[in-house]
Amino acid sequence: MNETSQILREKNIKVTPQRLSVYMAFNGKGHLSADEVYQKARKKVPAISLGTVYSILENFKINDIISEIKIDFDKSLYELKEGIHHHFLCRKCKKILDVEMPVCNVLKNCAVEGHSIEDFQGYFYGICRDCQKDAK
Ligand SMILES: [Zn+2]
Ligand SMILES: [Zn+2]
Repeated sequence: MNETSQILREKNIKVTPQRLSVYMAFNGKGHLSADEVYQKARKKVPAISLGTVYSILENFKINDIISEIKIDFDKSLYELKEGIHHHFLCRKCKKILDVEMPVCNVLKNCAVEGHSIEDFQGYFYGICRDCQKDAK
């Protein structure tokens, strides 16, 4: 039994070639659109449809395997859920970067104004380091 099957089984998700191919598409890192996941998954399971990819992504999301990133309003991106980080979208080169931020009191207590926080994502927009250099 390989590692991916193990991860799915731990979440009580039935292991199928389709699900494995979607998981493998992430290859441990990166932010992918559903279409990119589909293109990659299709190389392993040619019969997979985009609809199937969407429903697998939805299933993985509910089971905390991946998170959906909506930093780009035109399309959702997905990534494997690993560690807490936020995202920065460069308005110039359109790159999406992972950013770490020191944990503030709100997040330490997992509460804000009496509401308890279960999940959060920070989206930042601006000009990335590389593009700032190019501008000089
Ligand atoms: Zn940039
Ligand atoms: Zn990320």
